[in-house]
Amino acid sequence: MKVKFYLSAFFFAFAALAWAQEEAEQTRKPGHTNQSKFRQLYQEFATPNTYRSASGTPGPDYYQQQADYKMDIVLDDKNARIDGEETITYHNNSPDDLEYLWVQLDQNVRSKDSKSPLRDGGGVPLAYRTASFAGDYLTEPFDGGFNIEFVKDAQGKSLDYTINQTMMRVNIPQALKSGEKISFSIKWWYNIPDHTVNRARSGYEYFPEDGNRAYVIAQFFPRMAVYSDVEGWQNHQFWGSGEFALPFGNYDVNITVPADHTLDATGVLLNRKEVFSKEMLSRYEKAKKSYDTPVMIVTQEEVEAAEKGFSENTKTWKFRAENVRDYGFATSRKFIWDMMAVKIGGKDVMAVSLYPKEGNPLWEDLSTKAVASTLKTYSSHTFDYPYHKAISVHAKNQGMEYPMICWNYGRPNEDGTYSDRVKFGMISVIIHEVGHNFFPMIVNSDERQWGWMDEGLDTFMQYLAEQEFGETYSEV
Ligand SMILES: [Zn+2]
Repeated sequence: MKVKFYLSAFFFAFAALAWAQEEAEQTRKPGHTNQSKFRQLYQEFATPNTYRSASGTPGPDYYQQQADYKMDIVLDDKNARIDGEETITYHNNSPDDLEYLWVQLDQNVRSKDSKSPLRDGGGVPLAYRTASFAGDYLTEPFDGGFNIEFVKDAQGKSLDYTINQTMMRVNIPQALKSGEKISFSIKWWYNIPDHTVNRARSGYEYFPEDGNRAYVIAQFFPRMAVYSDVEGWQNHQFWGSGEFALPFGNYDVNITVPADHTLDATGVLLNRKEVFSKEMLSRYEKAKKSYDTPVMIVTQEEVEAAEKGFSENTKTWKFRAENVRDYGFATSRKFIWDMMAVKIGGKDVMAVSLYPKEGNPLWEDLSTKAVASTLKTYSSHTFDYPYHKAISVHAKNQGMEYPMICWNYGRPNEDGTYSDRVKFGMISVIIHEVGHNFFPMIVNSDERQWGWMDEGLDTFMQYLAEQEFGETYSEV
């Protein structure tokens, strides 16, 4: 039996080899398919239709869906928990009637039963440190998934829904007709993860020396999936590494945090006079007229004093963002805050940085200048930056973008010294992540499926921006 098995295995292996050789021959020969490297690319492009014309411009029937959000968000700094209640108004601009809606629940990537860890399996290493083994296999997994308290229609009636990992299908009683809109509400909460542990893109960093956390919060609320003429519902799962497909919309967001926090977020701050001190307001007025140097809004000295306390009072920061595809915010009593103005297409844009003292002196010297320089270079080579501000937030190990706000790495040694590698690495990541405002925050591609589109355009522009940053910039 064994001999026979070996023989037949040999025969099949030989046959497979012969077939593969034949295939290779065929592809080398100019045969039925055009293998020329210079062939026209007709087969690579979708057939033009009434939504997308052959010239690459939107066709006469082109549409995009719109999702507007009204959200009340509360951060519990003591317990590292976030609660939210949101009303989504979804506009069906498509010609189709929709029988259900898909909503993205990204935080479920960190629920206890998440399938994501199975995808990350690189196998068990040959040598395993005891602490790493215990951390990976013996501890209870972190419970960071969404807890959905309700999904209700505009009349307060519960809506039926089904959750499949990081996607939720909301079943509506009647189809949402073409041209109509629907409002519904979701109440939710989740435990915020420590983003330094598994490089989560959203979460907190804990600083044991002073007992405070610095939060960078994104992908934090149930977000509408994209419905388009190309995909129908784009409901691909979020496994933790892919990025996003999101429709544009308007956001009204109230964020409640401890009163001693410094906070910035996507959108126009509507109640600056309520949340800023008199001192901060006058510094802000100066920053609006400072085109060369950043002006401190919250100083390191003030932050060091704030770090010693923990306010039991809260403040609510109110924002409105129009026509954006996503929302993010950063908050901490550890955040130093500086800003300067940049002229873009005759309008003033604020270049902004938030960073803990652990980022200094590097961050106060270079972050806001890197933001300003990025906005100038990208605007001159592509289109004028349309938003009123761009914020760079210092977060350990992070390089991640959201509309108007991004998280960036680059931390000096404890004594404040840093290598060229850290310095230029930091400038490059700021250029890259601020640059993502152009691709894909404004030119809104489907990052989950076609990550190369925004990464490719952004990386190309990043190179130009590095060259234009200044004479001191070098490749390291
Ligand atoms: Zn990128």
